[in-house]
Amino acid sequence: MGHGHGHGHGHASASGRLAGRLWAAFGIAAAIMVVEFAVGFATSSLALISDAAHMLTDVVGVGLALAAIVVARRARSKPGRTFGLYRAEVLAALANAVLLFGVAAYVVTEAVQRFTDPPEVAGLPVLLAAAAGLAANIVSFLLLRDGAEESLNVRGAYLEVVADLIGSVGVLVSALITLTTGWRWADPAIGVAIGLWVLPRTWSLARRALRILFQHAPERVDVTEMAARLGGVTGVAEVHDLHVWTLTSGMEVASAHLTMAERADQGAVLDAARELLSSDYGIEHATLQVEHREAASKCRQLSW
Ligand SMILES: [Zn+2]
Repeated sequence: MGHGHGHGHGHASASGRLAGRLWAAFGIAAAIMVVEFAVGFATSSLALISDAAHMLTDVVGVGLALAAIVVARRARSKPGRTFGLYRAEVLAALANAVLLFGVAAYVVTEAVQRFTDPPEVAGLPVLLAAAAGLAANIVSFLLLRDGAEESLNVRGAYLEVVADLIGSVGVLVSALITLTTGWRWADPAIGVAIGLWVLPRTWSLARRALRILFQHAPERVDVTEMAARLGGVTGVAEVHDLHVWTLTSGMEVASAHLTMAERADQGAVLDAARELLSSDYGIEHATLQVEHREAASKCRQLSW
């Protein structure tokens, strides 16, 4: 695979490495998902079907992360798309969260129907499929662990794999209970547990994606403090129209109007403000409008 097509940008080769790992995780998850669904429906094991459904969201999640990387690379080709397609990753993360909520709803509905008369589940095939799922998840876990801090989507896929790892252990336990005691409720009960226990994580992933789509300031940035510090820059009298947002994970942007004090030097104000945002907040992409008092008074009519 061709690394970094000369963008002079550490990001490109890192995402190339990441893409390789994602492809591997994608293949593994897809193969195991097919096995788990087949065995799950053949044995009518809700625990296994539930785990397979999570594998499906792994496959979709990793697939979307891959698509987002591909799409983001060729994003700049159209002049009208000044922000490229960077947000594709955020949309993908949100879609994956919605899918996970859907899986949870499906599993709970299925379980309610089964609790009155749980079907007899053949323990051994379930046990073998769960063992294969566990092995696959351990491999994917190791593949995605490094990328999880870099990208919201990879983080989503990684959290999924971690959840599935525990899920596979759950299916193993239910199969062992079925084999040793023949207790029929073990399978639907563990199926529901697997369906529900990822929900808190899913919610936090959805929340992160929504924060970006609503263009809230990144959680680590205190906007009030930022306004005060920009106001404290030498030559700045007042700050208004300050906005800070995340374009996609790892790309933070700010814009602000700075009203100059009497006899301040416009260039010096701009440099100092830009330096503050870059060094103290890690925001390299800031659009700063340094203006005189008269211009600032016209800005008051704009409320957002
Ligand atoms: Zn202004």
